Amino acid sequence: MTDGQKNEDPKLQVEAARKAFEQEFERFANFADNSGSLSNVDLARAEAEQRALAELRTRHLGKKSALAASKKMIGRVPAEERAAFGQLVQQHEAEITENIEQVDAAIKRHLESARTTREALDVTLPGRRPRRGHRHPITVVRERIEDIFVSLGYAIEDGREIETDFYNFDALNIPDNHPARAPQDTFYTTEGFALRSQTSTVQIHAMQSRGAPLRMIAPGRVFRRDTPDPTHNPMFFQVEGLCVDRGINMAHLKGTVGEFLRRMFGEQTVTRFRPSYFPFTEPSAEFDFSCFKCGGTGCRICKNSGWIELGGSGMVHPNVLRSAGVDPEEFSGFAFGLGIDRMVALMYGLDDIRLLFENDVRFLEQFD
Ligand SMILES: [Zn+2]
Repeated sequence: MTDGQKNEDPKLQVEAARKAFEQEFERFANFADNSGSLSNVDLARAEAEQRALAELRTRHLGKKSALAASKKMIGRVPAEERAAFGQLVQQHEAEITENIEQVDAAIKRHLESARTTREALDVTLPGRRPRRGHRHPITVVRERIEDIFVSLGYAIEDGREIETDFYNFDALNIPDNHPARAPQDTFYTTEGFALRSQTSTVQIHAMQSRGAPLRMIAPGRVFRRDTPDPTHNPMFFQVEGLCVDRGINMAHLKGTVGEFLRRMFGEQTVTRFRPSYFPFTEPSAEFDFSCFKCGGTGCRICKNSGWIELGGSGMVHPNVLRSAGVDPEEFSGFAFGLGIDRMVALMYGLDDIRLLFENDVRFLEQFD
């Protein structure tokens, strides 16, 4: 059969058009299974098939389709064959239309249910729990310390981290030749500023701005030129306490530190003071408390001594009171300071305080 013959025989033309349609339609017929449903088809693919199907419809039912051409030929077919040919064309059109519509309906159903599923909220699903943050272990301990002192009538003071020599050293009775002032022990910035090497600087600011009597604690960061190792870090946290009033003596200091440690580590906690030296207190004492783990019998945490060294304290040196504008003849006071990081390391059994500042969430989220 040549193209010429095909063009001349309208029946053959319809037949050829039907074959062409069947061939093109095959993949759509396979796309929708026998039950007319599409399983495991994603939205994007179903949408693409829907567009391809619309194009197929235009090609086979549109104005320029073989079907349209066949319809035009109906008038040219001999009268006795015209009815049969007309029927053939109609049948062909009905077949194409029905096939396309079946698949189209299947795609539409699929798209609708897929979109509904995508947008539906299944209340029976467990849901994705938002990941809750929590406080850093240093913050946890700092807040416990703050709560205890607030309940004892202490204010919480916030200090600056960059200080002049006056607040960091002179006002704290640390003379020019003191090793703490040496560049290898302190971070100096330009123009005589230094990162504070202890929270005691806040004592001076607080006394200057609020005068005596005064009770305050100052938790915060301090800086020393230390090489980081398991027990040292160039940046760490301290809390400073200061009580200035008329008639304050060493007994008040011992009572306050003892009460703090009992609230922190339990009623049975015993505190002891050892004579020491600090430039800003006189007399000065370091304080230890009975090991919270073994109760004093000796264990790994207290290195078998039964005691844990915690901080320094003493009666505020008259020179310090004077440089902050408080009359040492009228007022006296005690001060104490301790490292929060060290306390955290003790309480959580950390062998290396650097872990606290590495910001590894897997480590930090263990504590709360
Ligand atoms: Zn112990």
